[in-house]
Amino acid sequence: MGRKKIIVTGGAGYIGSHTVVELVAHGYDPIIVDNYSNSFPEVIDWLEELIGFRPINHNLDCCDYDSLKKVFSDNSDIAGVIHFAAYKAVGESMEKPIAYYQNNVNSLLVILNLMEEFNVKHLVFSSSCTVYGTPDNGIQVAENSELKPPASPYGHTKIICEEIIQNVCGNDKIKASLLRYFNPIGAHRSGKIGELPIGKPNNLVPFITQTAIGIREKLTIFGNTYNTPDGTNIRDYIHVSDLANAHIKALDYIGNKQNEKCSIFNIGTGNGNSVKEVVDAFEKATEMKLNYQIGEKRAGDVEAIYANAQKSNSILGWTAERTLEESLLSAWKWQLNLKAIDFKLD
Ligand code: UDP
Repeated sequence: MGRKKIIVTGGAGYIGSHTVVELVAHGYDPIIVDNYSNSFPEVIDWLEELIGFRPINHNLDCCDYDSLKKVFSDNSDIAGVIHFAAYKAVGESMEKPIAYYQNNVNSLLVILNLMEEFNVKHLVFSSSCTVYGTPDNGIQVAENSELKPPASPYGHTKIICEEIIQNVCGNDKIKASLLRYFNPIGAHRSGKIGELPIGKPNNLVPFITQTAIGIREKLTIFGNTYNTPDGTNIRDYIHVSDLANAHIKALDYIGNKQNEKCSIFNIGTGNGNSVKEVVDAFEKATEMKLNYQIGEKRAGDVEAIYANAQKSNSILGWTAERTLEESLLSAWKWQLNLKAIDFKLD
């Protein structure tokens, strides 16, 4: 039997590229679809170095039914789709809500249409812990926790997409797994692929590594008066390669006939770390001093959220393996690599 073909939308992106590496390592044949709206074509070269061959890749927008149809019709035996491609910036979604609904919901509908048309049955969808909104303080969220009203159009698109997929799975043509990611950080252990934020990073870890390397003058910790042990926000930081591996497990899970038609899994470590703890861990792991200050709270930040990962652990057979230190060291290695190859992000 040949290698199973998996369409990976957003395969040049941060989580997508790491998943491509894991797919190849597990005997799959990824077909990357990406329009490079928030990623770089160079990622395909770096993937080639890592996996030893040039991955098949198509530069197209997943909302473009005709172009995507060609990918499906040119490959008669697609085993599944992993749908990463989406707009993902919370703040930007407040400014451009229509673009977020248009892109994130339309691309899913195009994919579902094509899956049905070409009899492709298995879908893994990138969801987010943002669907839990603001949980009650100190509560680890589980898959059956209440979904609170979304704080942003971005979060709302994830809820809408989850609901669409859940309804569609009822028709017996499609089986899906909805993976609710917590906070992915770090980079492939080789340092050859990683996160590539365009412009000033919104996320904590790229901001830390850019500060450490001198691209940013200092990190601002957004508030230290939250109701947490050290006053800073708590999140569940998960190594991106662990997160990538969850997609392999999800494909296995969907492939087993007995399993539920639409499964939902939290993909997190199950541990919460504060912003201050992340900064301290980075300083300790790299033996560097980070320039930082305490600033105002950031609008819309949830005080504390981390995963109950028991369902993923027991049902999916997946567990996060890498530590916070390992994750931060890999992010640093990636930042150093970007400097070594003189890759400019803006
Ligand atoms: N954060 C911070 N300074 C920054 C970026 C982020 O203090 O420059 C904090 C932010 O307030 C949050 C945590 O780091 O508590 C994680 O933020 P990020 O944007 O990475 O992920 P989010 O959980 O908001 O999706």
